[in-house]
Amino acid sequence: MFALVTRFNADSDPIKVNLAPGTYKDPEGKPWVLPALQKAAEILLDTPTYNHEYLGIQGHLEFLRLAAQLTLGSSVSAVASLQTVGGTGACHIGAVFLKKLYDHTNKPLQVFISDPSWENHHAVFQHVGLQTRTYSMYDTQTKELDFVAMKATISAALEGSVIVLHACAHNPTGCDPSPEQWDELALLFKERELIAFFDSAYQGSIETFLRGDVQLLVAQSFSKNAGMYGERLGALHVPCPTSRAADHVVDILKAITRREISTPPRFAADLMTIVMSNPELFQEWTEDIRTMSNRLSDMRKELVETLRRLGTPGDWTHITKQRGMFSFTGLTAAQTRYLTDRCHIYLPPSGRLSVTGLTRLNMGYVTKSIDFAVRN
Ligand code: PMP
Repeated sequence: MFALVTRFNADSDPIKVNLAPGTYKDPEGKPWVLPALQKAAEILLDTPTYNHEYLGIQGHLEFLRLAAQLTLGSSVSAVASLQTVGGTGACHIGAVFLKKLYDHTNKPLQVFISDPSWENHHAVFQHVGLQTRTYSMYDTQTKELDFVAMKATISAALEGSVIVLHACAHNPTGCDPSPEQWDELALLFKERELIAFFDSAYQGSIETFLRGDVQLLVAQSFSKNAGMYGERLGALHVPCPTSRAADHVVDILKAITRREISTPPRFAADLMTIVMSNPELFQEWTEDIRTMSNRLSDMRKELVETLRRLGTPGDWTHITKQRGMFSFTGLTAAQTRYLTDRCHIYLPPSGRLSVTGLTRLNMGYVTKSIDFAVRN
């Protein structure tokens, strides 16, 4: 993905379109600073006591309390939380933690990752010496979630296996289980004693699994939902049976952090604490999120309608059924190569189209190019 962006940047043709970005772009294709975060920055910089002192090893404690509440709700009484370097850092620390725990047993730990998944998942878990496998979840024919296959491969996993789940807006397919399917999965996890590793890059709800008393970890990111990609703010949460157990887990997580980065970065944690603790800013933040999400669904609708109007062969309705920043279009590697090499439209060979790269200005050119790529 980074190589594709380098090629895009080096392309001097003014017609070029980037359909690969993992960061939200406004209707003019520009990066967007969320107004709620902008206001939080103004408040922070105006605070007389504002400074750049180190945070503690665990991170910003008030940020962690509010972040845990946001993702776990207020019913969880004991949770071990650690501030991390983005969602990737949360996945990494979670992986190191699991590896450490399992090194004390003689059991092999297997980590199951969806096929397909965020391209970094296997690497992050393998990097710490864990074995990864895949579970099915996507039907390439219908371009929808294949829940039967998903359940079948997950049920075949050994007891105690770790299953990485995308809390919402599955990357890259945009296909999430329905609320009823999440209920079924929670029952299955409990029955088979599987550990759920929620990658919450887009802030999904994991309530069903908490209610079902499933052992879980949550890797929470504030990159996408707060537009703070480069600030690297995330958190790892591990709900525990007692506060004594939570304290113990925090000690282990802190020991890992101390060795890797000593203490996590401060600025974004200060900003997010202001947003989450101020009711007006919190409300504004939810509206900012709605602005992003509405633009993405408008672009999805417009893409499908324009392709339909052009009579482009194929059924494109899956694009409006999928959710989140990405659409798994079903365009083949040859078609995406054509789009990139001949039309200056950049997207990966998997056909994953970043909906945020679409604007009213480039829609006509993109759809005509897709139409041409599909017909030829
Ligand atoms: N997990 C998934 C599923 C993602 O889509 C992303 C971002 N593309 C990440 C993790 C990484 O998040 P962050 O930038 O916060 O490290």
